[in-house]
Amino acid sequence: MSFEITGVTALEILDSRGRPTLQTTVTLSDGTAAVAGVPSGASTGTREAVELRDGDNTRFGGSGVLTAVGNVNGEIADLLRGHDWETLSAVDEAMVAADGTPTKARLGANATVGVSMALARALAASSGQSLHTWLPGFGQPPRMPVPCFNVLNGGAHAPNALDFQEFMISPLGAPNVAEAVRAGAEVYAALRKRLTAAGHATGLGDEGGFAPELAEPEEVLAVIVAAITDAGYTPGRSGIAIALDPAASEFRDQDGSYHVNGKQLSSHDMVERYAAMIDQYPIWSIEDGLGEADHVGWQELTARLGDHVQLVGDDNFCTNPAIITTAIADGIGNAALIKLNQIGTVTETLEAMAICHRAGYAQMVSHRSGETPDPFIADLAVGTGCGQLKTGAPARGERVAKYNRLIEISAHHPDLPYGRG
Ligand code: PGA
Ligand code: ZN
Repeated sequence: MSFEITGVTALEILDSRGRPTLQTTVTLSDGTAAVAGVPSGASTGTREAVELRDGDNTRFGGSGVLTAVGNVNGEIADLLRGHDWETLSAVDEAMVAADGTPTKARLGANATVGVSMALARALAASSGQSLHTWLPGFGQPPRMPVPCFNVLNGGAHAPNALDFQEFMISPLGAPNVAEAVRAGAEVYAALRKRLTAAGHATGLGDEGGFAPELAEPEEVLAVIVAAITDAGYTPGRSGIAIALDPAASEFRDQDGSYHVNGKQLSSHDMVERYAAMIDQYPIWSIEDGLGEADHVGWQELTARLGDHVQLVGDDNFCTNPAIITTAIADGIGNAALIKLNQIGTVTETLEAMAICHRAGYAQMVSHRSGETPDPFIADLAVGTGCGQLKTGAPARGERVAKYNRLIEISAHHPDLPYGRG
């Protein structure tokens, strides 16, 4: 069924770090209007689609997005308004073609993704469906994802000495998503108690996890396992397991060596370090365990540990269908992180997920470290049936908005299965 777009507008608003981002609104000829908030990363892959920033140092230190806002209100609105469209993908393709660059550098991926998200939401509303039911599938039936709560932050997301960026807890064994969220919040509270008792400050990193002055990753793993037990849960895949995102590009040198708590490690050393961690702690998933340019290291990591844990590509995959296709052929990883703004349209995001699905690669839908309260990714995770969603700590409004949306969807659709699938 064709539709007509009558309005496409954007505003410059603030994200959760106090930096500018876009809020976009798309209106259809039947009067339906829908709004989206654009996320923004800090530990970005070098091949991500371009987030257009003004570079005008008199505003927000150069990080303003008025150019991208102007592109939505001007060129994109002119392109999309006033004629009939058949599908979201036709609109997304038109924006990609109008941009004309391989990285959406001209119009800005922050502009295109905002319009794409708002349009998806408008089309769902206009057809009387929830976003998660409306999203076009690719063969994975819908399901409630396992929430991956980032409870302890380091790296580019916190001012502490911890090199690893994210320590997440995943209630794989929970009976449903509401119980999984409860488990996440209870372990988070238990962790706060433990850290306080050990004399640590419990200030928060960008994604709402604690940011204590711990520097050795294994020390962090031990305190998280203890907190899981304190809260009355079983550490491990039958209860609550741990997912890591070291974001290793951030602590890899030009010369290819890694620096973890003052020690210099080769890729091989890193692989063996992970192997030892997996033996000792209930880790089920490792994202960006090695740097985005460490192709050979990633192949070794995948060959050595791919049968034991999920190995997620983020900085090296960039939610990019072409890059992921090459990586799959090269035997790199066995799962992809999925971030809408890394590629810049909903259609290409779904395409990246479909490619993973066909290759037997898992998909973990993800927020960014800079967020708005927009819960779009909760619907994306449910509708695509990917089974995993990481969206920060079970704290801070912009993070809990997504977890609360999962609870809401699950209440409306009690028959949807929970878990990784
Ligand atoms: P970012 O971090 O949003 O700052 O890029 C998230 C991640 O690395 O997964
Ligand atoms: Zn990551």
